[in-house]
Amino acid sequence: MQEETPWSSERVIDCHFHERTNDEATIAHLDGAGITSALVLAFGDFRETYGRLREKEAGRIVGWARAPHFSKEDVYSDDPHREAFDMTETHRRAARGEALSTLAALKADGWKGFAETTGRVAVDSPELQCVYAISAELDVPVMMHFQEAEVPGQPVYGIKGFSRIGAMLEKFPATKFVCHAPDFWGNIDSRYHDGGAYLSGPVARGGLSDRLLRDYPNMYGDLGAPSALLQLTRDLDFTADFLERHREKLMFGSDCGCTDGRGGLAEGAQRPTAPLAPAPKDQGVWIASTAAAMQTAMASLGGLAGKCIGRELLSVTWRTTSRETFRRIAADNAVRAYNLT
Ligand SMILES: [Zn+2]
Ligand SMILES: [Zn+2]
Repeated sequence: MQEETPWSSERVIDCHFHERTNDEATIAHLDGAGITSALVLAFGDFRETYGRLREKEAGRIVGWARAPHFSKEDVYSDDPHREAFDMTETHRRAARGEALSTLAALKADGWKGFAETTGRVAVDSPELQCVYAISAELDVPVMMHFQEAEVPGQPVYGIKGFSRIGAMLEKFPATKFVCHAPDFWGNIDSRYHDGGAYLSGPVARGGLSDRLLRDYPNMYGDLGAPSALLQLTRDLDFTADFLERHREKLMFGSDCGCTDGRGGLAEGAQRPTAPLAPAPKDQGVWIASTAAAMQTAMASLGGLAGKCIGRELLSVTWRTTSRETFRRIAADNAVRAYNLT
């Protein structure tokens, strides 16, 4: 009989772990999927909860990341550190200086990068170019959600224009671009166009994402979410080759909304295809439970209901790679890119 969690003795870091509502829920997902530790993607000021968890569960949390905001409406009004993540005015010299010094202080406190970066902005917008520059200056990655298509019932938040990222990779060679979501993963296939429907069956080789990973040392891929799983399970010969060729550039993440690392549903997510309620506090702000509901909905729309995306991604990586490559994708690359220990 095949072992259920064959990677259980390996170090596995989830670098796409959205903040849960409490510490027990965090540990339940890590334990259930056989994951050693997480880089937590925080929604608010995570320093307090991060500090507590780090103390209570030493080694389970390797740091926290948080995304920038691009408009005043998107910013938590009661977050004392909002200015550091608000990129609305950061092109002004004074605001940029302020953001840089606050972010440098947060970095000393475990902040590892701009993740997950989303918003109604294009890949080459002035706002994002400002983030790329700051990210290079502070030596932290920018992890980005590329999605041109809009999903009915969900907020519009995907970064547009993935296919133009090459110019940004050239212009900001010291910025680590960690790419994720439908337009990055769709583009492993040469027939895909930004915003298109997922392709299935054998992959047509020579896709844009594949070429960019080969050509640019500052281009990385994040393995989280149904978008990655659906693309990596359609053609296992391609997957084995793709993971091997980019073994220095890809990092495991779950981006999974299940509760137990085995596909269990969160309360309130039993009817995942129904339109999701807006976040209660503010249209532009996501809270942890909303993100979990949305992740569950995405999994359901992709035909992955009842599955833990993280567990499935680890399973396909384990089955298609050498042990050495698995270790790089499961932990080593994230340690290097995000400066983890
Ligand atoms: Zn995302
Ligand atoms: Zn899960």
